[in-house]
Amino acid sequence: MLLFEREQVYQNAAPVIMLCDRQGFARKVYPHRRFIPFTLDILGRSLSLSICYDNIDVRLAEIVPMARMLSDMINRQLETSLEGFNKHVSCRRGCSYCCYYMVPVSCAEAFHISREVVKLPHNLRERILVSMQEAGRCLINHRPPNPEDRHEDDTSCLYELSNWYRSLHLACPFLVNHICSIYDTRPLACREYWVFSDPENCHAASQDFVTVAPLPVRIAEVVSEVCTHMLGLDQTVFLPLSLPFTSTNSELDHKTWPAGLLVETFLEVLFKQLHQSSLSANSSTKADQTDKEPVLHEIIQ
Ligand code: SF4
Repeated sequence: MLLFEREQVYQNAAPVIMLCDRQGFARKVYPHRRFIPFTLDILGRSLSLSICYDNIDVRLAEIVPMARMLSDMINRQLETSLEGFNKHVSCRRGCSYCCYYMVPVSCAEAFHISREVVKLPHNLRERILVSMQEAGRCLINHRPPNPEDRHEDDTSCLYELSNWYRSLHLACPFLVNHICSIYDTRPLACREYWVFSDPENCHAASQDFVTVAPLPVRIAEVVSEVCTHMLGLDQTVFLPLSLPFTSTNSELDHKTWPAGLLVETFLEVLFKQLHQSSLSANSSTKADQTDKEPVLHEIIQ
C-alpha cells in the first residue's frame, strides 16, 4: 500500500495529519486544507514531510494521530540507517517483556486512548476496564518513592520510579494473552522504546543489561511539552490510570485551540528538542574526540 493511502486509512478524516513529501497529490485530495512543509535530518538523512490541517479549532487529542505517524516515519528511517551499521532493533510485535514497565502518557494521549477504548469490541473493552481497575488498585496500594525524601536529580528520580514500577510486576491493561490489544494505536512511549540487546535481558529484574537506543528525538516528549505549554500545567499519567484521569479531567479534553497554533507549537517544540539533542550529543562527542556524526555515533557504539 502506498504511504499516502496508508495514511488515509490510518488517520481517516483526522483534522491534523502528517504526510510524506507527496504534497502535490495531497493538495488535490485536501484542497481547502493548509500545509506546513518541513525537513528533518535523521542520522544524516533528510526526511521531507508536511503537516496538513483543517483551519478549525481542535482539541489536544487531535494532534496524537499525526504525532504517531511522525514517530513511525522517524523510526522507519532510523531502522533503515542502523541496518547499514549491522545494528538491528530487537523489539517486535508479540514481544511483551517491556509491557510490565512504567508507560507515561501525556494528557493528549490519555484522551485519545479513552476514545480508542470506546471503539473496541465489547468483551475486549470490558476485560481492559477490569485490568485497569486492578492496576489502579495496585498503584494506589503501593507507595511510590517520594522524590522529596531525597535530593537527587530528575534522571535519578525517574530511574528509581521506573524500578519501583517494575518491582510491582504489573502487566499493562492492554496486554491480552501476551499481545498488545491496541498495537496499531499503542502510545508513543511504547513506539519509541527500542532495544538492541537480547530481548531476554528485558525480562531480567535489572535493566543493567538492556541497551536502549538513544533516539535523536522522542515524539512522546514533544507532545507532552506541547500539552504543558497549551494547558500551563504538566499532566503526565501512568498508562493504567489514563481512563480514570480522563473521566476526572474531562474539562481539559473540551479545551480547543486553532489547529494552526497547535501545529506551529508542535513544530517549535520538535525543532527545539532536536537542537538540544544534537547539542548534547555534540558535547559528549567532543569529549570523546571520535566521530563527526554525533547522534549516529552514540547509537552505533
Ligand atoms: S500499550 Fe501495548 S505495547 Fe504498550 S505497554 Fe501496553 S500492551 Fe505493551
